[in-house]
Amino acid sequence: MDLKSYVRDIRDFPKPGIVFKDITPLLADPKALKACFGKLYAEVKDLEVDKVIGVESRGFLFAPMLAGTLNAGFVPVRKPGKLPFDTFEESYALEYGTDRLQMHTDAIKKGDRVVIHDDVLATGGTAKAVCDLVTKAGGIIVQCNFVMELEFLKGSDKLEFPVKSVLKY
Ligand code: 5GP
Repeated sequence: MDLKSYVRDIRDFPKPGIVFKDITPLLADPKALKACFGKLYAEVKDLEVDKVIGVESRGFLFAPMLAGTLNAGFVPVRKPGKLPFDTFEESYALEYGTDRLQMHTDAIKKGDRVVIHDDVLATGGTAKAVCDLVTKAGGIIVQCNFVMELEFLKGSDKLEFPVKSVLKY
C-alpha cells in the first residue's frame, strides 16, 4: 500500500513559506490507518518497552495504541501549562525564539525503557528536547519512532538513539 499517497502537502501552513505534511487523509482511511499502525508497531514489537511517549499533539494519535499493543504505559509530553501534576521541562530552539516541553515528574522511573513517538521528525529540535527529558528522568531511550521523517532536514543527526520512520521524504 502506497501510504505516501494519503499524505498531502499544504502550502503556507501554519506560516508562509512552510509546506506542511498533512496526515489526516491517512488517518481517515481505514486501510491506510491500519497499515500505518502495523508498520509503526513492526519497528517496536521486538523491543522490551516500559513506556511509550507521545509528543503533543499529533504524537498522541498513535502512541497510546502502540503502548497498549506492547503492554507498555503511555506518557504524554506537552506544551507548557497543560499537564496538571508536578512537571519538569526542556527548552528548545525554534526558527524564531524558543519553546518548551513538559513531562510529569513521576511519568518515567529510573531504568524505564522508553520509545518516543511523534508524527513527524523535521529539524529534530522537538525530539531532542524529549530525549533530554527522558534522560533527565533516568529513562533509557530504545527508539525514536515517527510516522514520517523529512530526511533533508537531517533531524536524525541531532538524536543519539535509533530512529525509525514509516515514510521518508
Ligand atoms: P522539529 O522539531 O523536528 O523541527 O519538528 C517536529 C514537530 O513539528 C513535530 O511535533 C511535528 O508534529 C511538527 N511538524 C513539523 N513539520 C511538520 C509537518 O510538515 N507536518 C506535520 N504533521 N507536523 C510537522
